[in-house]
Amino acid sequence: MIDPPSTLGFTPAVGELPLTPKQRSLLALANELGRTRFAARAAQWDETASFPFANYDDLRDAGLLALCVPESHGGLGADYATYMMVAAEIGRFCGATALTYNMHICSTLWTGVLADGIAMSDAQRAEHARRRELHFKRIVERGAIYAQPFSEGSAAAAGRAPFGTTARKVEGGWVVNGRKIFASLSGAADYYGVLCTEAKGDEKPDVCDTLYLAVPATSEGLSVLGDWNPLGMRGTVSRNLAFNEVFVPDDEQLMPRGVYYVGAQTWPAMFFTLAPTYLGIANAAYDFTVAYLRGDINEATGEPSRPGERRTVRRMYPTKQVAVAQMRIQLEAMKSLFARAIQEAAPNPSKDARMRLYAAHYSVMEGANDIARLAIRTCGGQSMMKHLPLERLYRDSRCGSLMLPWTAELVLDRMGRETLYEAGEQDE
Ligand SMILES: Cc1cc2nc3c(=O)[nH]c(=O)nc-3n(C[C@H](O)[C@H](O)[C@H](O)COP(=O)(O)OP(=O)(O)OC[C@H]3O[C@@H](n4cnc5c(N)ncnc54)[C@H](O)[C@@H]3O)c2cc1C
Repeated sequence: MIDPPSTLGFTPAVGELPLTPKQRSLLALANELGRTRFAARAAQWDETASFPFANYDDLRDAGLLALCVPESHGGLGADYATYMMVAAEIGRFCGATALTYNMHICSTLWTGVLADGIAMSDAQRAEHARRRELHFKRIVERGAIYAQPFSEGSAAAAGRAPFGTTARKVEGGWVVNGRKIFASLSGAADYYGVLCTEAKGDEKPDVCDTLYLAVPATSEGLSVLGDWNPLGMRGTVSRNLAFNEVFVPDDEQLMPRGVYYVGAQTWPAMFFTLAPTYLGIANAAYDFTVAYLRGDINEATGEPSRPGERRTVRRMYPTKQVAVAQMRIQLEAMKSLFARAIQEAAPNPSKDARMRLYAAHYSVMEGANDIARLAIRTCGGQSMMKHLPLERLYRDSRCGSLMLPWTAELVLDRMGRETLYEAGEQDE
């Protein structure tokens, strides 16, 4: 059953779409939490570059840490499209919460709905079913938080080389050695969902031997290192991790041996999950601009203007009206592509759908920053003061295009190459 979107009482960040009752109630919940709790706290995480623990307590209490855990395992059983809508709604109120929430949710989405669409042998399927039960249970019963540290500062996270972090098979588990950079949720996560390469003695490392392991935060030999003082997304606390002979039991395998690589080939939409945060930010920058130009925001306090208070209205200038129209046109294009891409996300997409997915990712990541840039130009000098959210949205929005494996550059690279060359084709 599909309900009309108007019953929500607000326009979701993903835009007005036909929604199922479950999507409607989850979007209402995300909007309520974002508006009443996350928005007011966002400046504090940004200023101190600290993790939004209070927001995670709220997400946990609302059951949202188990959003994509199947209902049969006690979760809310949201599918891919529903997660993407909810994440965009959270991103509208706190970018750092939405981005870190993505890392956590992916550990359930990949092992849940996505894994169900990846080819596995019967033995692998049975092993996966047994192990993911333990993993889901921790989230449902204990509210455990997962991080997703893949990046190493090499071509590995770009999907062009094996991960330098290795896992050596030993009795009862694996021994992990290596280093990760940009580990969002570092120091906050209970488990780090690490991608590493199975070390097979003298054999050359191979991307097909990528392993996906949950390393408990309390593991001996695991340390969080380095400072965290970035331009934007400061609340993600994405410090470095070092693994020195870290023993990880067999049951911490989040996917059977070799399955992650197959999954990444099968489900390109798994990397699009970084985008909704930035669609949320683009909505926030647009909404702020409209309210600010109308004089609905008190520029001195950042609070909604009160009746009888002196308001600075800027909406009568044609140049500002044109800028708002331009922002809206770009936002509508981003939302439309995003909505289509999440609705058609599936294993083994056609070439046309894959190109659209890349186009959606690029449009959202670069578009969010374009909209934030126009928002500051249009609202004017006083709008970029630190007590207003716009300058934070501008800084946060710049980070989307840097996320591997689909940085803005690498998406262009893929689109051009995959358009002009069919699989296996080469020039003389
Ligand atoms: C706020 C924030 C949070 C993050 N959180 C996480 C996280 O939780 N987990 C995680 O795994 N990562 C995370 N990242 C890291 C992100 O995904 C990238 O890995 C990181 O930004 C890359 O930085 P770099 O300086 O190594 O980039 P680059 O040097 O641009 O890329 C690294 C390597 O990728 C290859 N590459 C890059 N661009 C190209 C190109 N155009 N053509 C060919 N090869 C190319 C090259 O081999 C290059 O050396 C986060 C980043 C940010 C900004």
